[in-house]
Amino acid sequence: MIYDTIIVGKGPAGITAAIYLKRYGHHPLVIAKDGGALQRVKEIENYYGIPSITGPELLEQGIHQAKALDIPMIEEEVLDISYEGVYTLHTNKNQYQAQTIILACGTSRNLFYKARGLDGISYCATCDGFFYRKKKVALIGNGSYMAHELSVLHHIIKDIMVFTDGLPLEVEIPEHIPVILDKIDHVHGETRITSIEAGGIQHEVDGCFVAIGNASGFTLAKHLGIALDNKNCIIVDENFMTNLEGLFSCGDSIGGLLQISKAVGEGAKCATAVSNYLKKHNF
Ligand SMILES: Cc1cc2nc3c(=O)[nH]c(=O)nc-3n(C[C@H](O)[C@H](O)[C@H](O)COP(=O)(O)OP(=O)(O)OC[C@H]3O[C@@H](n4cnc5c(N)ncnc54)[C@H](O)[C@@H]3O)c2cc1C
Repeated sequence: MIYDTIIVGKGPAGITAAIYLKRYGHHPLVIAKDGGALQRVKEIENYYGIPSITGPELLEQGIHQAKALDIPMIEEEVLDISYEGVYTLHTNKNQYQAQTIILACGTSRNLFYKARGLDGISYCATCDGFFYRKKKVALIGNGSYMAHELSVLHHIIKDIMVFTDGLPLEVEIPEHIPVILDKIDHVHGETRITSIEAGGIQHEVDGCFVAIGNASGFTLAKHLGIALDNKNCIIVDENFMTNLEGLFSCGDSIGGLLQISKAVGEGAKCATAVSNYLKKHNF
């Protein structure tokens, strides 16, 4: 089945976009790994019409409203998105296809601050793996997103070490790949990364791939070649479309005021633009 639109994210931006698209007569699918930023908000007192509410309560109300409209919602992590005539979303469990995508993924960047400013740090195995094919690389991460990046690198690079940065390894990986479970103390290098120090041992590397935590809007954008600004926010045009045809984004993912009211407003405007796009292309 090919969906007209798949929305990644069930925060205020994603759910609003889903409600508008459904009411415009389309059939969106929402995929989200969790409740996003609202899960962590203790109290909201600046949202129109609601004097006081907790983040989880507002999240639940939005999801309830979407489910009442029979909008299908799947709790999975999107690890990668590819395009061959249609978009294919690869999650930790399945694959889904759509004519258009809305990335409403919030702000989580999972940047590797310990290596800030150094060259030789990549956030996309598919984009940069080939440059390191005869080199020694570190892969930082401990979950299914790391395993996904490893599956890409593994075919290209022989010398890979996984660093979990003090976290337990949550996935199975091929036995011959060394795993350093110690916390990373330092990343060395003048302009370019030369070694990673963990548990008092310095490991020389030529490059480093970062796959910390879950895949985020930032990492998905990197994989797809979506243009980002200097704050790593997704760049969109006046119709919320990225530099990729049929791929839209709204809410915290595109930066600006990181607030619920802005995410909701953009979700509505983005859905309207997607609806016009779907109609124009007879999808
Ligand atoms: C502590 C805190 C307090 C705040 N207080 C306020 C406040 O008082 N008032 C206010 O207006 N705003 C507040 N905010 C900001 C507000 O929560 C955000 O601006 C808003 O939630 C952004 O909505 P969004 O839909 O763009 O992103 P989010 O709500 O972050 O939703 C992102 C969605 O994308 C999903 N996602 C991301 N990556 C993937 C992936 N790879 N695969 C599948 N799903 C993915 C997430 O699971 C989530 O469902 C606060 C934020 C925090 C953290």
